[in-house]
Amino acid sequence: MIDLTRLHAHEMARLLRHGDVTARELTEAHLALAERQNRALNAWLTIDRDRALAEADAADARLAAARAEGARAVDALHPILGIPIALKDLVSVAGGKATAGSRILDGYRAPYDAHITERLRDAGAVILGKTNMDEFAMGSSTEHSAYGPTANPWALDRVPGGSSGGSAAAVAAFHAPVSIGTDTGGSIRQPAALCGIVGLKPTYGRVSRYGIVAFASSLDQIGPFARNARDAAALLHAVAGRDERDSTSAPVSVPDELLSLPAADDEAAGWLRGKRLGLPREYFVAGMEPQVEHRVRAAVAALEAAGARVDEVSLPHTDYGLATYYIVAPAEASANLARYDGIRYGPRLGNGTVLENYLATRGRGFGPEVKRRIMLGTYALSAGYYDAYYLKAQKVRTLIKQDFDRLWLEGFDALVAPTSPTVAFPFGAKMADPVSMYLSDACTLPVNMAGLPGISVPCGLADGLPVGLQFIGAAWSELELFHLSRAYEAITAGADWRGLEPADLARADDPGTPTPAERAGVLSAS
Ligand code: GLN
Repeated sequence: MIDLTRLHAHEMARLLRHGDVTARELTEAHLALAERQNRALNAWLTIDRDRALAEADAADARLAAARAEGARAVDALHPILGIPIALKDLVSVAGGKATAGSRILDGYRAPYDAHITERLRDAGAVILGKTNMDEFAMGSSTEHSAYGPTANPWALDRVPGGSSGGSAAAVAAFHAPVSIGTDTGGSIRQPAALCGIVGLKPTYGRVSRYGIVAFASSLDQIGPFARNARDAAALLHAVAGRDERDSTSAPVSVPDELLSLPAADDEAAGWLRGKRLGLPREYFVAGMEPQVEHRVRAAVAALEAAGARVDEVSLPHTDYGLATYYIVAPAEASANLARYDGIRYGPRLGNGTVLENYLATRGRGFGPEVKRRIMLGTYALSAGYYDAYYLKAQKVRTLIKQDFDRLWLEGFDALVAPTSPTVAFPFGAKMADPVSMYLSDACTLPVNMAGLPGISVPCGLADGLPVGLQFIGAAWSELELFHLSRAYEAITAGADWRGLEPADLARADDPGTPTPAERAGVLSAS
């Protein structure tokens, strides 16, 4: 008997259409695994068994009706129909919790569905539950969650990356074949790299953020995680597109070719022939682990061997990415988080004047990283400092974007780069020094500053831990990025690291294994 959790989503879709498996069977298998391993991984904040099974039954009914109608009706079904999915806990699902990893939203129930939740329902996906994250998506390790950290399935004493660490860990651990994250400065690509899976940050404006808890509105994008390029592309197809309720969502058509990436490796690899790829020298940042650099350079050599032309290029303003991001993102966050006042959302603390209640609610509701960002952002926006910080940062942001624009004009099809300078680090390693945590995103956040799409794909292991390879493209070039990713999968299909499962899954199965919070506490005390 096959283990249903080990299938790719596109394999599940085929079996569902042929009636060889039901959505209920798929859902049961994934729920059982998630429930069993969540003590050790803490990837999920909510597992909604009843709702998931009801959605699975609805998907099975749609499949049966389409099959009765004939082949055309079956073909018209979205490939995500009946597929189990995990959502980061900042996506609104009507009637469900949406904590954004924060105490301040403890007990809050979303009054409506996010746009992407509606789209997933239309397509027939089965939402298993909600995943852990850094509080308000601020972080690179998921250690800033108010609900305890998530463990990396490859090494349970290490972080999965962040802020979408729960969504990445859940897919790496086979609790779901696909999941949703958000990426403001790297929060999809970096955890994808650290967990050994695929994660795409789409072009700014590709996916509506209606019904998503906002962090930094000029940077936030929603995107897919999966264990292969085809599944990630299918999930993007399901959620992307214009929505009137998010004025930043662009009226740009979503290519249906996202659903027909080549299945055969020969055909997929052919995409690389004659491609022009740029290798930005500034992305091999100081502090990059030599093993990571080695893996990335080996991947670049493989792309060249398969027919791509790779030239070293320069993105001269890369160095300013971190400094400008940490003005712009906290500034926007300080405005977005003003709404959590104890009146409109979640629990209200204090029993005095409005100001006393406000201070008590926010003082105890927000964690230290969120407070740090609110202070940074409020300062940067204050009269007298606005020009020196926020306005200046916006100007530098334009320069960062122009660095990329120049390369597209020169005819580059995409850039290839590391995703993260390091592999997954141990719990506590960067918690005492916020700037060292911020450096985790040095190779990803310029892409958000420029509004571009970027994808991370696994490119091997360093000391047994996954390394990510990043492709960066021009605006709206997600299809190109998926083709390149699929081609890279094809040319490395025989690599010794392909098909290896995360090394600590057996420990995650053991009911006696400590929780990540216990583990992190032990490590930081030692
Ligand atoms: N690590 C970055 C930050 O803390 C990016 C987070 C994100 O992409 N949401 O702001």
